[in-house]
Amino acid sequence: MAQLTDDCFAFDGPLMPIEVMEQLIRDRIFPVAAVEAVALAACRGRTIAKDVIAAVDLPHFDNSAVDGYAVRHADLDPSGDTVLKIGGRLMAGEVPIHSLGEREAIRIFTGARMPEGADTVFMQEDAREEGGTVVLPAGLKRGANCRLHGEDVEAGSTAIPAGRVLNAQNIALAAALGLTQLDVRRRIRVSIFSTGNEIAEPGSNLEGVQVFDANRTLLRHMLEQSGCEVSDLGILRDDPSLLKAALAEAAGTSDVVLTSGGVSTGDADYVRNAVESIGSLDFWRIAIKPGRPVAMGVIPHQNGNRAAFVGLPGNPVAVFVTFIRVVKPLLARLAGATPLAPQPLWVASTFDYKKKSGRREYVRVALRQRADGGFEAMKHPQDGAGVITSLTETDGLVELPEEITHVAVGDRVKFFSYAALTA
Ligand code: AMP
Ligand code: MG
Repeated sequence: MAQLTDDCFAFDGPLMPIEVMEQLIRDRIFPVAAVEAVALAACRGRTIAKDVIAAVDLPHFDNSAVDGYAVRHADLDPSGDTVLKIGGRLMAGEVPIHSLGEREAIRIFTGARMPEGADTVFMQEDAREEGGTVVLPAGLKRGANCRLHGEDVEAGSTAIPAGRVLNAQNIALAAALGLTQLDVRRRIRVSIFSTGNEIAEPGSNLEGVQVFDANRTLLRHMLEQSGCEVSDLGILRDDPSLLKAALAEAAGTSDVVLTSGGVSTGDADYVRNAVESIGSLDFWRIAIKPGRPVAMGVIPHQNGNRAAFVGLPGNPVAVFVTFIRVVKPLLARLAGATPLAPQPLWVASTFDYKKKSGRREYVRVALRQRADGGFEAMKHPQDGAGVITSLTETDGLVELPEEITHVAVGDRVKFFSYAALTA
């Protein structure tokens, strides 16, 4: 159960630099999710709860990396061809019956256990069989084409560290170590709803003053991509008692209650009053653009749960960016995950851009490869925070650091793909 303290989101300063926010999340938020054993087939996207220690060496025994001939290196003539008698044949899965005799080679196949005494394997392409012998050229290093036990993972070492979010590769490693299930954190439970009298359910008849709800769909999919369990609570009117009841109920079953809309200055009071009347609320004015103030709160429930509340801005692009920059790190912390930071691609700017210092800005860009092989970023022509096609017609975000006030055409800038940012 979520057990956040009332003041875990308290922040007094005017603008919150993004590093300060990240530090605050590390310092004040703790993993809430209990541990459960889950079969490998269902582990993708889950977070490893404690280090996975290898119980066996990987590989488990010395074996051949190629199809060829296993030999004792000391038998080889360093200056010319060596002719060795073929003393046997070993397929993968066969137990070597005898150790390598003197001046003997064993015909061996990939994955077969190295016979006692052999330390080197010639690839079959490099060898020539003649009668019952094999002719081997000079120059092969001792140990060549031989996989030693433990060279991949040593028994007793950490194969998968706690906090790793499991992908296919990690899960395959667990299988290679003989495991059938892993101890992972339970999924973080997030309830989402949209707020605003103008927000209409897609599929409904739209009145002239309404907009279809895009944020709930955006949030559901980003949350699921982040490994969360989502409860969709629909659209809430800007009605204090309705908001209060819905928030209070959601806090009983959620780790995080996530809303969009209704926290900008004009209508902040609905959501603000509702959360403040049943819990505590702080506004984070994070130094990013796009991204208006984010409302951060704690809502206790009589069942003992203390859920986090996050109120995102209403504009879909601001929702997208604040989700990536604020909600994802919070979710990761609650889940006990230490996800690897996405790696930027340095690209050339094709646009001229002025910005305020002290604020990290995200520019929606399409990527294009130039004739010289390098990549360049083209800014979307519309940069309004409500323009959803600026997210669908682009490939990712260029991140402009706080200290910069101007980007000129040709400047090197950091690009992050949407795939990397939403993984
Ligand atoms: P607000 O933060 O409530 O002032 O909303 C800012 C802008 O975002 C307004 O134009 C809203 O109509 C719009 N908006 C709010 N919620 C949603 C939503 N769920 N889907 C699409 N647009 C929204
Ligand atoms: Mg509103």
